[in-house]
Amino acid sequence: MSYSGRFAPSPTGPLHAGSLVAALASWLDARAHGGRWLVRIEDVDRPRCVAGVDAVILQQLARCGLLPDAPPVWQSTRDAAYAQALQTLVAGGSAYACGCTRKDVDDALAAQGVVHQRHGERVYPGSCRPERGGLHGRLARAMRLHTGRSGPIDWHDRRLGAQRQNVETEVGDFVLRRADGLWAYQLAVVVDDGWRGVTDVVRGADLADNTPRQILLQRALGLPEPRYLHTPLVLGADGNKLSKQNGAQALDLADPALAVHQAAQVLGLALPATGTLAETLAAAVRAWAGMMAGAAASSSLAPPITPHSEDRTPS
Ligand code: GLU
Repeated sequence: MSYSGRFAPSPTGPLHAGSLVAALASWLDARAHGGRWLVRIEDVDRPRCVAGVDAVILQQLARCGLLPDAPPVWQSTRDAAYAQALQTLVAGGSAYACGCTRKDVDDALAAQGVVHQRHGERVYPGSCRPERGGLHGRLARAMRLHTGRSGPIDWHDRRLGAQRQNVETEVGDFVLRRADGLWAYQLAVVVDDGWRGVTDVVRGADLADNTPRQILLQRALGLPEPRYLHTPLVLGADGNKLSKQNGAQALDLADPALAVHQAAQVLGLALPATGTLAETLAAAVRAWAGMMAGAAASSSLAPPITPHSEDRTPS
């Protein structure tokens, strides 16, 4: 299949130095493979989206010379596709309705003596699984994916190497449609990557931990599994990942060649010190292709890491 990559920003704030790294990496990988590069605005979590920021992000990308090969897609226009995917999962016995409130989950876990928490999130104990009696007469709230019987998911990251996660025991049956009716990131991202024929997901390492959930969903929906590459994160002065949430500054794009140059440095690309934007991008494509060829020869770009507290699930 010919290469398709994508950059999928959530319009919760303008691009910052960290998100430009992810954007540039996905663009470089597409260009180095002679493939197409798509942009998807991930505005499913409507309360968190900021009006007008989608246009700002597209302008920032354009100013850096990162132009999508097809018109961008907004996830807020894709409700019907997500509903259809959910219906497929329910019909196949992979998804079920859950009537639990947060307190119900806490009580069920306490009754089992379970203190298992993951990044402050409880691993859902499966109380509403159909084989355990379903909703027990309560109203349906969220829809969840049944993660049972899948065993550990082994997957390969082109930079991080071999990865493994048992979604059932480490994450639990995760939400596909939230109690407030909004689509969950996991479902939307898998449906849209499948719809657009995305062959290569290149995104920040803080999202790596979501990959096994997305692989489970791809399998349940009969979608092909893309290849994955999770890029290094930009750290703030406090040593934490730079993010919109911890006040990362919007990019200064007075000199876009400099911004691209700095993002390329985070990716480990050695570029000539100065150049126009076009020259910088062309040098970055060559450097990226060279780095990938070297990595293919030595099979991985970095030693495997295990997911840690910087992991993030876009809500
Ligand atoms: N929308 C997600 C974010 O901005 C990225 C999703 C993805 O690349 O899979 O964090």
